[in-house]
Amino acid sequence: MSQTLIKNIGLLVTNNSEIDGTSLGLIEKAALLIEHGKVKWVGASESAPSAEKVIDASGKCVIPGFVDSHNHLIFAGDRSNEFAARMNGQKYEAGGIAYTVELTRKASDSDLLSNARRLQHEALHSGTTTIEIKSGYGLTVKDEARSLSIAKQLTDETTFLGAHVVPSEFKGKADDYVDLVCGQMLTEVKSHTKWIDVFCDRGAFTTEQARKVLKAGIAAGLLPRLHANQLEQGDGIALGVELDAASVDHVSHFNNSDIEKLAKSKTVATLLPGAEFSTRSNYPDARKLIDAGVTVALAADCNPGSSYTTNMPLMIALAVREMFMTPAQALWSATKGGAQALRRTDVGHLSVGANADFVILKESSYIHLAYRPGVNLIDEVWQHGAKI
Ligand SMILES: [Zn+2]
Repeated sequence: MSQTLIKNIGLLVTNNSEIDGTSLGLIEKAALLIEHGKVKWVGASESAPSAEKVIDASGKCVIPGFVDSHNHLIFAGDRSNEFAARMNGQKYEAGGIAYTVELTRKASDSDLLSNARRLQHEALHSGTTTIEIKSGYGLTVKDEARSLSIAKQLTDETTFLGAHVVPSEFKGKADDYVDLVCGQMLTEVKSHTKWIDVFCDRGAFTTEQARKVLKAGIAAGLLPRLHANQLEQGDGIALGVELDAASVDHVSHFNNSDIEKLAKSKTVATLLPGAEFSTRSNYPDARKLIDAGVTVALAADCNPGSSYTTNMPLMIALAVREMFMTPAQALWSATKGGAQALRRTDVGHLSVGANADFVILKESSYIHLAYRPGVNLIDEVWQHGAKI
């Protein structure tokens, strides 16, 4: 029986609150035993069981691997010129997606796969051991189906986002496009996807259209999540709670009624600080949500338009600096919060039985993730009990 013991961990973050009564479940001078890709034992290093293979963490901090629950990795080309224009004063609108759609439709399957694989590799090496990937740049039956079959090769957390924007060939006929998404497109993609998603916002889909898309997905056996309230205050958060969505994502605008609804529900608010950063928009106040009892997750939202990064440590630094989260809250949201946003109990924590997905940092504390922004603090990444 192959066991590996990680010993001499300066600070272990388990995210098991039963350990110390805090959400991070911290153990100082800890050890972690792994077997068959799972956590077998956690506790004080001095009382650790013996194992065939022993790794000395040299007093460094070990955290659960990041669970990044919101990414758009199936696309071609980039939009660096649009970014430069925006930094020069142009406002962000949802319309830039059309340019990526055009390039994605023209790209070969192998080009789309290798680009997504490159980004997944980048994410993994910055500590992301679970990643969600959406479609949404195909917007035809054929292109959405192939986007999801490519995504499925990379992760189990695949999301159908046929309702990303109305494609140009359906200009002025948004309801007809919604019918296509809910009909033939959904039928063709459903075997490749766990989730159904919709962009419910100005310039994308109305609340009624979004409700129709999500309900069609639910009827087909998919689980709902949605993009809501990125560009303006709307009814997307309320819709998410109404349909028991696992998560409402962006949540850049919200009112007291939204906070109340979220706090009473199982729906997670997934904040995407990379989007505010890259569109030079106002950040939401995460502290306000957390204080009201809302479960908050952080995700990278990697996409070529509004957040072209896979780096979860950067999301933590931005959430602490710009969204008023504490370093502990931000780390929890980037790990266990992300797992809850994907309705997963096997990742995002390091309790006995969890997947042995973890990161050995170069520093002795997780606080450094926010305290040393932009510095690569990832020493080792372990996934399913093996060092990558
Ligand atoms: Zn998104």
